[in-house]
Amino acid sequence: MSSTLSDLRAMKPTAWINPDLASFQIAQADLDLKREDIDEAEAVLLRAAPWLAENFPDTDKGIIESPLTLYGNVWVKLDSHLPISGSIKARGGIYAVLKLAEDLGGELGDREAFSKYTITVASTGNLGLSIGIMSAAIGFKVEVHMSRDARAWKKDLLREKGCTVIEHEGDFTAAVSSARAASEGDNTFFIDDENSRDLFLGYAVAARRLKRQLELSGVEVSADNPLHVYLPCGVGGGPGGVLFGLKTEFGDNVHGYFVEPTHAPSMTLGLATQLYDEISVADIGLDGHTIADGLAVGKTSAFVGTRVKRLVTACVTANDETFVQDMRRFYGVHGIFIEPSAAAGFSGQRAFSHLPGTHLVWATGGAMVPVAEREALLGQKN
Ligand SMILES: *Cc1c(COP(=O)(O)O)cnc(C)c1O
Repeated sequence: MSSTLSDLRAMKPTAWINPDLASFQIAQADLDLKREDIDEAEAVLLRAAPWLAENFPDTDKGIIESPLTLYGNVWVKLDSHLPISGSIKARGGIYAVLKLAEDLGGELGDREAFSKYTITVASTGNLGLSIGIMSAAIGFKVEVHMSRDARAWKKDLLREKGCTVIEHEGDFTAAVSSARAASEGDNTFFIDDENSRDLFLGYAVAARRLKRQLELSGVEVSADNPLHVYLPCGVGGGPGGVLFGLKTEFGDNVHGYFVEPTHAPSMTLGLATQLYDEISVADIGLDGHTIADGLAVGKTSAFVGTRVKRLVTACVTANDETFVQDMRRFYGVHGIFIEPSAAAGFSGQRAFSHLPGTHLVWATGGAMVPVAEREALLGQKN
């Protein structure tokens, strides 16, 4: 652990093996989350499917799902191409908004009924897009607090959709505090990326769908052929939720690896020190700046850290240059654009590629990145 800490301080790419990994049966006994909670989340999404189908023709009859494809000997889950908002946040964020709409008792389609409510959220970009687009479509008023790392095009797009965008000079944690403070009023609901059960469960639904995709592809997950899944990690809701879902489907035959930028290794730091959300990367002298804007967070979600502490097999950190190289390589070889955050999984896969089993990289975003921005990232600026 102390060598992990000195690696983190020195921003040296590292792999931390979790000494607290437990069998899922044992880990689950302490969890306040059950398979039935994922059932409920999936049911909310299914009930909304007819309305989603009508309003978002890019969904598959109202189901928000992404392709699973084999590239060489590595499977890639292309959440970069999730309908509606083009990132893994289309799972958690859209679920959280749909659940709120249901809890409020409104009928999807009755914009008037929802217009008296305001949803607030803080984001490094993609959660804001996901929640902003869905809230605006339902008829909610939306206020998105963007941290300094958020890209300009994401703010422009949200304003176009009718969302109020508030820009902050500070980091993600500061944006969250502002959004929380702005949510005191009546009829205002704050979706808290730093502490959300709903986001977590929305992400978890991905696992059962992946299970079906693996079955259809003839991949059998077993003790002899374990599944290794590499997930880019920011606050931890996305990777944590997906991993919890996977553990409920595959138990100890699945291994989850979280990958983070060397400048913002919040989950690695929180787990390795067992301080979870009580420690921030600034506390060890890191600036939190990274090209992987989706992962640019200083501390983990209070909800997620303690709940995944016995589920994660290992955490891996890598530097921005590696993310960019993997992004370019994936585009160059397969013609598919994924954003730098979304390429993080490849670093995890390289660190553990020697392990027997099926390896799966979760590519978490990219389809909505505008062409000019893509070209700049790919180094093809004319
Ligand atoms: C948000 C995000 C993640 C990580 O999800 P967290 O819930 O913040 O851990 C990974 N990749 C992309 C592209 C994201 O936008």
